[in-house]
Amino acid sequence: MTYGRSSGFCIDPIEKKPLNHYLPGTPVLSFGTAGCNLACKFCQNWDISKSHEMDTLAAQAGPHDIARAAARYQCRSVAYTYNDPVIFHEYAIDVAQACHEQGIGNIAVTAGYVCAEPRAEFFQYMDAANIDLKAFSQRFYKKLCGGDFQPVLETLEYLLKETSVWTEITTLLIPGENDSDAELDQLSSWIVDHLGVQVPLHFSAFHPSWKMLDYPSTSVQSLQRAREIAMRNGLRYVYTGNVYNPQGDTTFCHVCGEPVIERNGYTLTGWALDSSAHCRHCHTPLAGVFEATAGDWGNRRLAIAINE
Ligand code: SF4
Repeated sequence: MTYGRSSGFCIDPIEKKPLNHYLPGTPVLSFGTAGCNLACKFCQNWDISKSHEMDTLAAQAGPHDIARAAARYQCRSVAYTYNDPVIFHEYAIDVAQACHEQGIGNIAVTAGYVCAEPRAEFFQYMDAANIDLKAFSQRFYKKLCGGDFQPVLETLEYLLKETSVWTEITTLLIPGENDSDAELDQLSSWIVDHLGVQVPLHFSAFHPSWKMLDYPSTSVQSLQRAREIAMRNGLRYVYTGNVYNPQGDTTFCHVCGEPVIERNGYTLTGWALDSSAHCRHCHTPLAGVFEATAGDWGNRRLAIAINE
């Protein structure tokens, strides 16, 4: 029902997906459809993820229309986002193939809640992914998302061990539900042990939404605490999101400790990488996918119509 129809098209900074180690500073054409296979009580896009209304899908666009628009606006990639792209599997794959024909990359922003067979089919067309690891407990997935925890861990292991998809992880910290020291310690230790220390992890701030309006927003201190726990466990690149926190926006070289990519929100403000993405101070390579220079898209958000 949603094939070829979208809830809207927008050009965003890649940092907003969030991806901090994939073509920094570049614009990404982003779109989603309607519906979702999870039912998160804190969903920030609930108007489209919970929608059964075809009216939500005002924008019509076929795969080649989208790829051509991405090329026209000089986007380096297209992101399948807003609702979960495993829901629009066939549409996303057709768009992704059209994008590859134009030399444009594909980015999945997903909860990773998908069975093994469609997982492999879907991710073979993706170049990068941000996977929501919503918590580190079955209790949370069952109570607040109406789903299961284990398939998400399997998706992460699949991506890191069996594909070359550049993968980053986001955890939305919800006060009292998934932000205890013990759970953050378990979550980050599991990433270190099963995925590796080079996987970027983003802790982002919850703001009251959908059916969780009676919860407080996440404090900067709590995000900072999570970041420190994860870095103490060995993760090299840990970020904070949805808040003002320059340290949590910055990429530091894991060997010499110097900042190599500085950001103010989604805007790049400092770049200390050479043309092959090695630290200019100590020449250590930075994990990720980089071009010779930084992009300059900045903080812009540009809504576009595809078929005009
Ligand atoms: S997986 Fe994402 S889009 Fe779907 S209900 Fe949860 S938060 Fe919303």
